[in-house]
Amino acid sequence: MVVAAQPVVGVLALQGDVREHLVSLASCDVVARPVRRPEELDELDGIVIPGGESTTISRLLETFELLEPLKARIKAGMPAYGSCAGMIMLADKVLDGRPDQHQLGGLDVVVRRNAFGRQIDSFETELEITGVGPVHAVFIRAPWVESAGAGVEVLATVPVTPEAGEAAGRIVAVRQGNVLATAFHPELTGDERVHRLFVDMVRGLTGSEEK
Ligand code: GLN
Repeated sequence: MVVAAQPVVGVLALQGDVREHLVSLASCDVVARPVRRPEELDELDGIVIPGGESTTISRLLETFELLEPLKARIKAGMPAYGSCAGMIMLADKVLDGRPDQHQLGGLDVVVRRNAFGRQIDSFETELEITGVGPVHAVFIRAPWVESAGAGVEVLATVPVTPEAGEAAGRIVAVRQGNVLATAFHPELTGDERVHRLFVDMVRGLTGSEEK
């Protein structure tokens, strides 16, 4: 598949901060559209799974009959980017999830849901992301990556400071092949560099995927 000059990037629009991702993508020279129906997947060159609530997104994926087709597209190589709940959805394995929670999968990682605990439920910090640079990262009841397989590139970790406590050094951004995930929400800070990194991944797709 050859990606057109303006790739079409969908945002899974079942629940969560869909609008914010659409706004971020709109400044990255792509056609950005919300996706709710299985047939809409056919036109996509890439997809964003937004932040929100992974148990709800999981349930709605089933209701909207998107779980299996989307899983299949990601497995076939369609680039996918997930922030926060989206990271949880793209992980192959989740700790502290609901037993009936489904995974889209694609990332050989174990993530822990709501990992940062009650005291630091939501927080902001400066991070260095490989390939992007320093960013201001907003975490909201975020997961972290507890462990990552050999094929997974770690792009960012929480800086080791006395205030970071248990979060110090935790993995919060990863990439494996065409799948990118961040535990934080770049879509909330008006800084579209992470989306640009994802769009570069979408543009770099050179026919490995079977539609
Ligand atoms: N805690 C949420 C979940 O489990 C994720 C929170 C978020 O996306 N901001 O899905």
